[in-house]
Amino acid sequence: MKYKLERMLWQDVRESVPSKTVTALLPVGTIEAHGAACLGTDGYIPADIGDHVAGSLDLILAPPVWYGVTKSLFGYPGSLTVTEQHFEEYICDLLRSFKYHKFRRVIILNGHGGNNGALKNAAVRAYQELGLNVAVIHWWLLCAEVTKEVYGGEGGHAGCDETGYVMAIDPLLAERNRYSEDLVYEHQTAADVYPYPGSIGIYNDRGEGRPDFDVEKGKLYRGKVREKVLDFVRYILMQWDKNGL
Ligand SMILES: [Zn+2]
Repeated sequence: MKYKLERMLWQDVRESVPSKTVTALLPVGTIEAHGAACLGTDGYIPADIGDHVAGSLDLILAPPVWYGVTKSLFGYPGSLTVTEQHFEEYICDLLRSFKYHKFRRVIILNGHGGNNGALKNAAVRAYQELGLNVAVIHWWLLCAEVTKEVYGGEGGHAGCDETGYVMAIDPLLAERNRYSEDLVYEHQTAADVYPYPGSIGIYNDRGEGRPDFDVEKGKLYRGKVREKVLDFVRYILMQWDKNGL
């Protein structure tokens, strides 16, 4: 079955929704500095996860929302942002459109922490006002144990997890020779600093999370992340089914 919305014809959608599926996947990221990895890291990863999940479960994969709410890293060249309220409304409009076209469930695959609040608001609104089932999945939080298993510790912003994953999609999406320790800021919860004093954020004091640029390890990580998210989406859909939702 064709599952990428932008490649389908309207007739394909009419034949598939709601008779074959009622679930759409919507990857969401932002354009933001990522140390020695590309500005589109937060969009590439959920789009790649979505490809696997949609292909495996016969769901429809919508094209990603590349632009999101970039906050502390906005000062770095190329970072782009959208006002939080605009972003929430934009996501609500998309959810309304899915509902209009007979989708009953939308799984939002989020790749960027700055989007969390607005996505949660949009999901609650769509659920309460439209009766649309919405799950928002923050992949890096869901896969924290996978990161520990493959990289031996926590990930970070533009750390081993994100950098390894984008290099598994395409090794040219990160550049080892751009990396230096100067890029790293060891995050302090005691401080809010704008602009963020490093385009790589590390959230522990054990030295964990720095990118290692090993493409093979990245491929292993990507495979495990894709399976973990697939299992979770399958679980959510099954629970909704079991509970008649
Ligand atoms: Zn990121």
